[in-house]
Amino acid sequence: EARNPNEPEFLQAVREVLESLQTLVEKHPEYEKNGVLERMVEPERFIQFRVSWVDDAGKVQVNRGYRVQFNSAIGPYKGGLRLHPSVNASVIKFLGFEQTFKNSLTGLPMGGGKGGSDFDPKGKSDAEIMRFCQSFMTELSKHIGQFTDVPAGDIGVGGREIGYMYGQYKRLRNEFTGVLTGKGLNWGGSLARTEATGYGLCYFTQEALQCMRSDSFEGKTVVISGSGNVAIYACQKATELGAKVVAMSDSTGYVYDPNGIDLDLMKDIKEVRRARIVEYANAKESATFTEGCKGIWTIPCDIALPCATQNELDGESAKALVANGCTVVCEGANMPSTPEAIEIFLANNVLYGPAKAANAGGVATSGLEMSQNSLRLSWTFEEVDERLKGIMKGIFHAAYDASVACDAPGNLMVGANVAGFIKVADSMIAQGIAY
Ligand code: NDP
Repeated sequence: EARNPNEPEFLQAVREVLESLQTLVEKHPEYEKNGVLERMVEPERFIQFRVSWVDDAGKVQVNRGYRVQFNSAIGPYKGGLRLHPSVNASVIKFLGFEQTFKNSLTGLPMGGGKGGSDFDPKGKSDAEIMRFCQSFMTELSKHIGQFTDVPAGDIGVGGREIGYMYGQYKRLRNEFTGVLTGKGLNWGGSLARTEATGYGLCYFTQEALQCMRSDSFEGKTVVISGSGNVAIYACQKATELGAKVVAMSDSTGYVYDPNGIDLDLMKDIKEVRRARIVEYANAKESATFTEGCKGIWTIPCDIALPCATQNELDGESAKALVANGCTVVCEGANMPSTPEAIEIFLANNVLYGPAKAANAGGVATSGLEMSQNSLRLSWTFEEVDERLKGIMKGIFHAAYDASVACDAPGNLMVGANVAGFIKVADSMIAQGIAY
C-alpha cells in the first residue's frame, strides 16, 4: 500500500486476488520462493503521455494518455482502451492487473495490458473524436505492435474510435497488421466481436446456472446496468434465452419497463443517436425513468448483470438485491461489485460470477480476431459464436474446478483467481526472474 498511494481501485483488485490465492500458495511454496506474487503485482511497464489536440473552436486541449503493460508471460499484452474522465493511473492499473488473469482464463495466448485517457468523449463532435484518437495513437504507436501489445475497445471506445486509431497507426507505420482488435469487418475485424462480451456473459451465466442450480435464464426477470456495448448485447442474449430484461441504465439514471426492454429502441437511442436513456421512457409508455443510477438495484429481479463500471454495486445495493429475491449476480463490467457487496452475495448463497471469468468473452473473441488476422481468413458468425460458447463454458468449469481444489467449492471468485493465476505464475517461473 505504501508503494501505491492514492490507488484505491488497484489495491482493491490486488487485495481480492491475494486473499483468493492463500490456500494455493500455502500448498505450493514455489510461488513464494520465486517471488511470483511480488512480481505479479508490479506492472512490467507503465507508460504515461501527453495527448494534445485542437477542438472545433480552435483551442488547444491537453489530456493524459496511459498504457500499462502488466504481464507478458503467456503472450503479447492485450487489453482495452478506456476514454472516460474518471481514468487515472489507479483505474488503468486495476484493469491491467485483472486483465492478466482474465486473459489466462480464456486459454488463449494473451498477456495483460490496459490503457486509455481522461478524455471525455461526451458532447464531442466526430471531428474532435478523430483528432483526439489520432493524437493519442501518435504516441501509443511507439509502444504497441501485433506481437508486442494489441489494444481493443472499452468504455468510450467502440468501432468508430478503433477506426480512427487504426487509420493513424497504419499511416505512421505503413503496415497493415492486426495491431488493434474490434476493427471494422471490411478491414480485419471479426464477426461477433461487437456482441462477444454481452453474449459471453450470458453463456457463462447459463452454464453456471445449469451446473450449479440445474436452472436457466428461461422465465427469469433480469436487471442490467449500463446501456453500452456490453449491456446491450447481454440484454439481447438474455432475452433470446427466455428471460425478461426489465431495466437498464446510463450515468444519468435508469429506465424500468415491466414489459421487457425494447432492444431496437434502446439500440437506436444508444448506438445511433448516442442520446441519454431518458429518451427511452419518453418514447415508451410502459417505461419510467428515474434519475440516479444506483436505484436500479432496488428493482426486484432473479438475475442481476452489472454492465456499467467499477464499484457501481455497493453493500447497500447488494442487500436490496438479496432482500428482493435475486439469486444470481454475474459481472459484465470490470469490478462492478464492492468488496462489501461480494461478501453479502457469498454469505447469502448468491451464484456470484466475477468479472474476470464472466466478461472474458470480449477479449477471447479479440483473441479469435488476432487468429483470423494471422491466418488472413474470416470465420463466419456461427463459427466465432460457437468458439465463444466453448470458451465461456470452459472458463466456468476451470473456475469451478479450481474452487473445489482450493476447498471453496462453488466460490467462483476464488476459483477464477486461482485458475487464472496458475498458468501465468508457472510461465513466469519457467522464464526466470529477470523481470
Ligand atoms: P460503453 O462505453 O459502451 O458503455 C458504458 C456504459 O456504462 C454506458 O451506459 C455508461 O453510461 C455507463 N457508465 C460508464 N461509466 C459510468 C459511471 N461512472 N457511472 C454510471 N454509469 C457509467 O462501455 P462498455 O459497455 O464497453 O463497458 C462497460 C463495462 O464492461 C466496463 O467496466 C468495461 O471495462 C467492461 N468490459 C467491456 C468489454 C468490451 O468488450 N467492451 C470487455 C470486458 C469488460 P454513460 O453513457 O452515461 O456514460
